[in-house]
Amino acid sequence: MSAHDKLALFGGHPAVRSDHYEMFKWPIVTEEDEAAVLAVLRSGNMSGTDVTLQFEQEFADWLKMDFALAFNTGTASIHAAMYACKIGVGDEIICPSLTYWATALQVFSLGGTPVFADVEADSLGLDPDDIEHRITERTKAIVVVHYMGYPADMDRIMEIARRHNLKVIEDVSHAQGGLYKGRKLGTIGDVGAMSLMTGKSFAIGEGGILVTNDREIYERAIAFGHYERYGAHIVSEELKPFAGLPLGGYKFRMHQMSSAVGRVQLKHYEQRIAQIDKAMNYFWDQLEDLPGIRAHRPSSGSGSSMGGWYSPHGFYVSDELGGLSITRFCEALQAEGAAGCYPGCNLPLHQHPIFHDADLYGHGKPTRIANSARDVRFEAGSLDVTEHVNVRVFAIPWFKHDKASIIDEYVQAFRKVIGHYQELLEMDPGNPQQMGKWNLSSAVISNRH
Ligand SMILES: *Cc1c(COP(=O)(O)O)cnc(C)c1O
Repeated sequence: MSAHDKLALFGGHPAVRSDHYEMFKWPIVTEEDEAAVLAVLRSGNMSGTDVTLQFEQEFADWLKMDFALAFNTGTASIHAAMYACKIGVGDEIICPSLTYWATALQVFSLGGTPVFADVEADSLGLDPDDIEHRITERTKAIVVVHYMGYPADMDRIMEIARRHNLKVIEDVSHAQGGLYKGRKLGTIGDVGAMSLMTGKSFAIGEGGILVTNDREIYERAIAFGHYERYGAHIVSEELKPFAGLPLGGYKFRMHQMSSAVGRVQLKHYEQRIAQIDKAMNYFWDQLEDLPGIRAHRPSSGSGSSMGGWYSPHGFYVSDELGGLSITRFCEALQAEGAAGCYPGCNLPLHQHPIFHDADLYGHGKPTRIANSARDVRFEAGSLDVTEHVNVRVFAIPWFKHDKASIIDEYVQAFRKVIGHYQELLEMDPGNPQQMGKWNLSSAVISNRH
């Protein structure tokens, strides 16, 4: 066996031969971004709204929406979207447990609570078949996440929501620019809200943005956390009397250095994510015939896409590789130089004690119960797909450029590890007790620095 054929884990040559830092670096920052930031600094208008208003207009035009409203974080944009949808005391939202906490946790501060539904095994988005039986008279909205870029089944979710008179909030933090059957994500529900922080595919620093075609939702989102814009032009009669101060007691204005970067990033975004899409699809196309792994991407020809492929993952089918643990599998890939390959994704929210026993506001009982007319706590074992996902998925390299010769090295790493899986079975320590994390860490760039 030559050193090239021997697994790197056992002393062979790694399949990935160099660092390829430029392939993973994100966002792409040029002199255009630098000049835009300097202009804000020099104008002394970091806390103004002139640049932000331009960014909002351009963002709304991009998505062909009537309104866009910028925020200092994605968390704040989703919080405001919830308030805008009139979620309040005793209300329930239905959302996935398999997501980052800011899809859901803000609802506690509005006096409501999340009710978790399971996700589909293939898309990892909210399972339409697990929603309806969870709806009560207190349910106000469904919060959908296009998890790790894969569009949720919006047709079926919208149909359920309309039939039950529920609002739909799309959390687009993983999927800016992605399509569902040809339609831009974030434009299908009543309101789309999303993170624009640096780890995401639309990356501008810290920031978030909300889009909607509903004037009342837009105005309530302004009123909640944008006091300086809560003024004369507000037309909602309910909101008018309280203009001038933020109804939520929050200040959510975007820093103008972020909106300046956002304007530049937006100009190049479609073209840059098209490159990512080509690169990622090229990667998966080379691996289609291999046992043990499956792509997490919608089928070609569906009209759906992965946007900027935020935090791309693949499925692992241990049975097809003799029961090899995903932990050992990723260890071997990492040894081959595929540093970004590690097992798991988000830990399920319903397994965190904040959704069980935490009394956050001094109710004398868990907030989860205090904020609902019933005990909506989820025990372990209640969301089958969600609870078993962390041994089924692993992070894959997030290529930012369509460079076949480099991607081929990673393909080779996968081929090599899968071709030699039997050698890995011998000293397989298995998986640790806990897999996954509370957040998807942004791209691990290299283990060779
Ligand atoms: C990142 C993220 C958010 C929160 O956005 P921030 O900008 O970090 O506040 C919300 N939902 C999901 C799914 C996210 O990944």
